[in-house]
Amino acid sequence: MYWDKYTHDEIRSIVFDALKKNANYNSEAILGLPGTYLDKETFYDDAPFLNDAPFLSTLITNPNHIGCHTLIKSESLDVFKGTQELEVDLIKICAEQIFGGNTDGQDGYVASGGTEANIEALWIYRNFFIKEYHARTDEIAVVYSEDSHYSMPKATNLLNLPSIVLKVDEKKRNIIQTEFENRITKAKENGVNYFIVILNLSTTMFGSVDKIEPITKFLNAHNTLFKLHIDAAFGGFIYPFTNPNNEFTFKNPNITSITIDGHKMLQSPYGTGIFLIRKKYMHYVCTEEAQYIPGKDYTLCGSRSGANAVSVWMILRIHGYNGWKVKMLSLVDQTSRLCTKLNELKIEYFHNPYVNIIAIKSKYITTEIANKYHLVADSYEQEPKWYKIVMMPHVKKGTLDTFINDLKKVN
Ligand SMILES: *Cc1c(COP(=O)(O)O)cnc(C)c1O
Repeated sequence: MYWDKYTHDEIRSIVFDALKKNANYNSEAILGLPGTYLDKETFYDDAPFLNDAPFLSTLITNPNHIGCHTLIKSESLDVFKGTQELEVDLIKICAEQIFGGNTDGQDGYVASGGTEANIEALWIYRNFFIKEYHARTDEIAVVYSEDSHYSMPKATNLLNLPSIVLKVDEKKRNIIQTEFENRITKAKENGVNYFIVILNLSTTMFGSVDKIEPITKFLNAHNTLFKLHIDAAFGGFIYPFTNPNNEFTFKNPNITSITIDGHKMLQSPYGTGIFLIRKKYMHYVCTEEAQYIPGKDYTLCGSRSGANAVSVWMILRIHGYNGWKVKMLSLVDQTSRLCTKLNELKIEYFHNPYVNIIAIKSKYITTEIANKYHLVADSYEQEPKWYKIVMMPHVKKGTLDTFINDLKKVN
């Protein structure tokens, strides 16, 4: 049921076949496009290793993936349809196999990052409430916790929407349910009728995971009109693999869209945020004026590199579902071993067992240790309360040992 692993040879032949299906600036009569291959003085295309380098070859031929390709029929005339089909395969793997969506039940695209994918979601829901309910923007509130990523305030600023920022419990880092309920009730009394709710499948600072059920239960019980977006920019490529009871899937009818970032856990190049949404929503942000794009444009960014989509597709296909799962389980295993060491030193921290982040109370960390190990603080404006560790694939056991030794000296 899960996607297979391909050999390097299989990957190479699939990507080169896709490039052959794309229009070729070298050999075809292409007069109308404002694009071309990368500058040949700088990125020469006859380097011998390119035959074994499908990603670099894609980069050099420079396909443009402008638009949203899950919407366009495969018989579309698009000149880059070969690599765009790989992007569609990638979106299907993410939406259907990682996030449990129905076959062909979701749209999506490879965005510049999690920020763009989050803005795209809020943009769609704002327009949805305006179009379907004739809402005014001041009647639509965006609801998220104070531990959410700063792309949320960025989005509400751009989209001119009011926000409701929810407090979290200082220790458990979860949304305080009574405060959530009071804020929603009060907002309704003040004329807010539509809610765009964002829940985190792991916050950036703590690796905390919001609970879905109490939030949606309250909203549904009070006949509240809402749309739920999941910000899985950080956790999207780890948590579904490490937690067998992952509830963040399209099987939950309350969830309409999900953001995941390839360029965090998946180790793909920057420029690989992924936006996923149920069918029948993308059209709320269709730019009708985009007449020269086959099928028009439904994305925030416009032109984007097809090589980015190919890189994410390659990574998922090199590992296969099982390979990726093994890799993510070993990262959380390494994280929990570090937690055991912190327990021995009686150091307080926050850690979700399915996520590779540990946030340590700042009183146990000296500035020297924080600087030496590039620990990230929760605030650079005020005195930090927390420092976080992210157990990424480059972290070596020796580094963890010296870190623990340094901690022992001061605790
Ligand atoms: C990193 C991150 C984002 C933003 O992603 P960019 O790719 O930097 O734009 C959004 N939300 C969360 C939870 C993140 O961790």
